[in-house]
Amino acid sequence: MDTPLSHVLDYGVDEMVGGDKNYLWHHIKPHKCFQDQEQMIIVAGKGLTVTDIRGRQYLDATSGGVWCVNVGYGRDSIADAVAAQMKQMAYFAGSVGTIPSIKLSGKLMELLPAMGKVYFSNSGSEANEKSYKLIRQASTIDPDRKGKYKILYRDRDYHGTTIAVLASSGQAERKKDFGPFPEGFVQIPHCLCYRCPFGETYPDCQIRCARAVEEIILKEGPESVGGLIVEPITAGGGIIVPVDAYFPILQEICRKYGVFLVIDEVVAGFGRTGRFFGHQHFDVDPDMITLAKGMASAYEPISATVVKQHIYDLFLNDPADPDQRMHFFRDISTYGGCTGAMAASLENIRIMEAENLTENSRVMGDYLFDRLQELADHPAVGDVRGKGLFLGVELVADKADKRPPSEAQMGAVVDAAKAEGVLLGRTNSSLPGLNTTLYFAPALVITKDEADRMVAATKKGIQQVFG
Ligand code: PLP
Repeated sequence: MDTPLSHVLDYGVDEMVGGDKNYLWHHIKPHKCFQDQEQMIIVAGKGLTVTDIRGRQYLDATSGGVWCVNVGYGRDSIADAVAAQMKQMAYFAGSVGTIPSIKLSGKLMELLPAMGKVYFSNSGSEANEKSYKLIRQASTIDPDRKGKYKILYRDRDYHGTTIAVLASSGQAERKKDFGPFPEGFVQIPHCLCYRCPFGETYPDCQIRCARAVEEIILKEGPESVGGLIVEPITAGGGIIVPVDAYFPILQEICRKYGVFLVIDEVVAGFGRTGRFFGHQHFDVDPDMITLAKGMASAYEPISATVVKQHIYDLFLNDPADPDQRMHFFRDISTYGGCTGAMAASLENIRIMEAENLTENSRVMGDYLFDRLQELADHPAVGDVRGKGLFLGVELVADKADKRPPSEAQMGAVVDAAKAEGVLLGRTNSSLPGLNTTLYFAPALVITKDEADRMVAATKKGIQQVFG
């Protein structure tokens, strides 16, 4: 291939397959199998379709494996916007303003009018970690919040991969072997009705999973609890949509005890669930919102911690006052200043609005949900749930007692769908014994025909494995 980009686009198949085996350590994958089995190598993407190095094409139901390529593959205009920005001014640290950072923070404020300020970084983990640092620093500099350093997190939720955010993960398999963790993170119950942690049934339960949070705060001591982080709709923990009454109860408890409510929109944000942000399905008004993934559809790495003005105001110190000198937010993120990533995000949001992709997520999400419901009669399909283009099918070995199938059976369903040309996702190394939910989180540009192909491949996979 004789192009100016030949150093990246030119490859020999055998060389790349060998290089993958010899040099690359893949994310969250056991590697022993690759000694005699070839790993998939993706070389191209357009819309929802990716092509591997052997020329095989797949319909991607996962938006890039981890629900992030929301506008689909092959968007030239994002590449062009990034290139233009990089040629103009590629980088300066986030301690100063740049044109894209000003434009993007302004755009996010337009989308989230109840919020006050935007703080950029470069991964979902980092955006969440910033919220913890804000809660912790507020608990030392604000006389009204002294000692309120503890952060509550929810069983089955996930907030990232570094040690501090893992400390707040409700997914035991993600945490295993990485402790000891920092102190001050306390778990609250999950809100999946299908496997109610209290063995109760909605609505007789009176939303006990939400009310239990008050008991936990009282047990910990309200004077020590400063924050609560939750996903609006749990992603990797098995696609969990809380009932409508859940968030207002949580909000009331947080307000009563002066606990900052952080909503992790890393997955649910940017149209994924059929609203621009996941929390907009519910009656809730968070103090902080964290964003990543769909923010630039993963064309570039970027994330943000968006806060209410009252949080920002806590950090407006008087530098001349020796007692306040250190009371500003002493945090930095080198790549939180990358202007190309901000240009990508701006163009990504422009595409979403111009093509009405949030609405397509809602409409096509309803369609895909209805089609997946058709599988519910199968003895191995326990529950179909989700919102917008963020749907899960929980498989069971026995419908009556909800006994989970084996990991091997789950893997076999995904493999069978892949053989049909569809890449399905599933709960992965998250919940002991319960990595049993198939995921459907395609790019928001999906058509009915593509949705039908996903359902057909899923049906075939389930039938092949469970009969
Ligand atoms: N929050 C949620 C809900 C996530 O699902 C993830 C990653 O999957 C993260 C945070 C962490 O994001 P990142 O992998 O960009 O650090």
